[in-house]
Amino acid sequence: MNLYFDEALGERYKSKAQKIRVMSECWVENNMFCPCCGNSRICKLKNNEPVADMKCENCGEIFELKSKQGKFGKKINDGAYSTMLERVTSTTNPELFVMQYSSDYAVTDLTLIPKFFFVPSIIEKRKPLAPTARRGGWIGCNILYSEIPEQGKINIIKNSVVRPGKEVVADYVRIKDLETRNVKLRSWLLDVLNCVNDIESDEFCLQEVYAYIAILQERHVDNHNIEAKIRQQLQFLRDKGFIDFLGGGNYKKRF
Ligand SMILES: [Zn+2]
Repeated sequence: MNLYFDEALGERYKSKAQKIRVMSECWVENNMFCPCCGNSRICKLKNNEPVADMKCENCGEIFELKSKQGKFGKKINDGAYSTMLERVTSTTNPELFVMQYSSDYAVTDLTLIPKFFFVPSIIEKRKPLAPTARRGGWIGCNILYSEIPEQGKINIIKNSVVRPGKEVVADYVRIKDLETRNVKLRSWLLDVLNCVNDIESDEFCLQEVYAYIAILQERHVDNHNIEAKIRQQLQFLRDKGFIDFLGGGNYKKRF
């Protein structure tokens, strides 16, 4: 895998954003396998330029790419808020590649966020653009990257080290077991997963998860039985092999 962008590709574009878009997308097309099925390549979709998603012809998964020079912070700038919300709740939601590159245009980090780790609560509405702006009134969004559970961030390249493709696909297949089409249930699962991740020790008890009730209640104002919901999600995680039940309200992480 050649980590460097092909800079010649960007030469005919004036704007830096366009250069980066073309170079980074071509990099994916020339270097990336499909992290979902292991197919040797993924291709750009030609029909919706200029924002071209990519597709694996083998498994049919669609990918969106977000790239940035240096580190992403807690938030990732994305497109129109309404489009993003629509995408999150639909079955055509793309998988997201998050790419970081260096000042000399080498990919340093590449992470895959599976589509089923997207819920409306991680899409933040930005302020509308000023009426005087070229796209006055337009409302963009941020992806609250820091609120995505660690299990939903599959490393492909980390600190310029490329992971074996087989490991990446195995991670994806394992995590795909958590996929649920129902967006409300998905929100619950990810929220409880975040609580469990936040507990430092590998073994924990139900009371430790109940410590997050106030936070969960704020996120799910309509729900009046948070405890039951927590237990339900822990059971789901147990059924999927992500935690073990040790008995007596004690659990052990398996991730
Ligand atoms: Zn595929």
